[in-house]
Order: sequence, then C-alpha cells, then structure tokens
Amino acid sequence: MKALVLRGHGDLSQLTIADVPAPTISTPRQVLIRLRAAALNHLDLWTVHGLPGLSLRFPHVLGADGAGEVEAVGAEVTAVRPGDKVMINPGIACYRCQTCDAGEHSLCPEYRLLGEHLPGTLAELIVLPEQNVLRIPDPPAPHPPITWREAAAYSLATLTAWRMLITRGRLEPGEVVLIWGVGGGVATAALKIAKLIGGFAIVTSSSDAKLEAARALGADVTLNHTQVDVAKEVREVTGKRGADLVLETVGEATWELSLRALARQGRLVSCGATTGPRVTTDVRRMFWYQHTIMGSTMGNLAEYREIVRLLGQGHLRPTVDSAFSLDDGIKAVERLERGKQMGKVVVDV
Ligand SMILES: [Zn+2]
Repeated sequence: MKALVLRGHGDLSQLTIADVPAPTISTPRQVLIRLRAAALNHLDLWTVHGLPGLSLRFPHVLGADGAGEVEAVGAEVTAVRPGDKVMINPGIACYRCQTCDAGEHSLCPEYRLLGEHLPGTLAELIVLPEQNVLRIPDPPAPHPPITWREAAAYSLATLTAWRMLITRGRLEPGEVVLIWGVGGGVATAALKIAKLIGGFAIVTSSSDAKLEAARALGADVTLNHTQVDVAKEVREVTGKRGADLVLETVGEATWELSLRALARQGRLVSCGATTGPRVTTDVRRMFWYQHTIMGSTMGNLAEYREIVRLLGQGHLRPTVDSAFSLDDGIKAVERLERGKQMGKVVVDV
C-alpha cells in the first residue's frame, strides 16, 4: 500500500512516499480500515525529529488522525461492520489492565499513539482495536454532513482539548479561560469547547489574521502575544481578577506569564511544551494564591464518545486549514512546520 513514511529521525528530508506492506487483522477484536483522509498534528513533527525513549522500526508510517471505511473485521468485533464510515481515536490502550477497567485509557501503562509509537494514518490501510473506532455521526439539518476531512481532523485535538478544559480543568459557564496560540489544533478546539459551555475565552497568537479568525469563532478577547504583556492584559480585561483556567501547550516561552495570568485559586492545565520543557515556577505565588497545576494527555473512551456525540449534534466542527493529496503529503507536513495554518492540515488518501 502507499504511505507517507519516515526513513529515519532527522528533518523533513527523511520523509518519502513509499510502497509498504499492508497491515492485516491478527486478533479477533481488530478492524481493518481503508483510510479516506488523515490529519496532521504537532506530534508528527516531534516524531520526525525523534523523541527521547522512542525507538521506531523504519520505514515508519506517520499520522495520528484519520477517518475511513471499515474493510474487514475480526471474528469477535461487534461495534462496527464492513462498509461503516468511521473516525479514529488515535490513542491505543491495552483494554485489559486495572487502569483500563477503571476507564482511564490515556493512563494505561501500555498507552500508545498512532504515528508516534505505532504505524499511523498517512497510509491507505490501518488495523486498529475496535475500541478505537466510532461511526461518523450525522448531524441533524440544517447542519451539513460531516466530511471525510472533518472526521479526520477532529479526534486528537478535540479529545485533548476536551480533557484539558472539562475533565481536568472543570471549566464552568462564565469562567475565564486563557488559551495560548490559537490556530493550532488543540487551541482552536479548546476555543470552540469554551464557547460551547459558556466560558469567557481569551486567546493569543502572534498573527493578527489568526486572531481575526478566532474572533469569528467566538473568542471574547484576542491578544497578540508578540505585542502585549499577556498576563497584564488578562488582569486588565477581568477587572484585575485573572483567568480561572489557563491552557498551556507552549512551555518555556509562556509558563511564567501563564502563572501570572491566573486568578486566585486558578487552574493551569498543560498538555505540551512546544518551546521547551524546563520551566520556572515561583512557588510563593502558587501557594499564596492557591493555584493548581495539572497535566493532561489525550483522553479516555468515554470522553471520546462524548466529543463524537457533540459532533453529531452539530457542535465543535473542526476548522480545516488546507488539504493535500497523499502524493503531496510532504507538502502538508511542510505547511505544518511553517506554523501558518489556522486549524487542521489534512491529507486526502
Ligand atoms: Zn490498559
């Protein structure tokens, strides 16, 4: 089958379109999916450059997000049938340990991500546990049907943002949330979730065009973080109170500003560190203002079902920035690396 593969860690010159062996069903609860679209995430760039502790067999198929048609199912599969149109939850758990039994799949000791630890979605075919696919929902009129591109673009970013805002951050209607770097997949999904539940969303970007697009998506306050002191502005627009919740995906470059932007008893949730992982925290502010600092990764199956249910009601549709053919898949990764996208970069398979 045709796939976008990584030949070794390094830079984008390690990417190529190749013919690789097609995967086959090997256990009774697996499904074989013929992919129709895949979507990129920042994770794909980390995988290209190499992560500590990550050892891959090359050539390695990239891509975490995808959607397609069920081609075949194992003997014990009950959730889907051949011909079903499905979207993929990219986080694969063992589904038999205590943590999985407790419903916390992204904390499973064997938790792995498609395209990072496992062969990914930038290919014609993929084999997955049946737990990792759900039928693409059909929203009621007047909402248009969910496209393959939207179904592929939805899962990783929306699931990550949902767990950060709702499960971990416990954002309540009327609360103030600060979201760094709108335009990225998680930040853009977070903005939509914040507005869906009635939060007050302050978003930042280095691009005025992205801030304008964020206003169209409902952002209440937009800040160009290259031009203003974000912590000071957050205090300014909240009557000195600060943000109840801060979503951190940036790390070193923003951490101290994030903490200074927090209200008394504010919560900071981190799911990434695109500018580096070593941050400085003044613990005096933390204990005096009774802040909570939390981590979050992906989400569990119940959270995934919930976000797909909301998609089926016409909510949280992903913003698709651009689409490329699989043959032009490397151009898609180049667009992601330049960071100019507003929403998701998609590959039609
Ligand atoms: Zn497990």
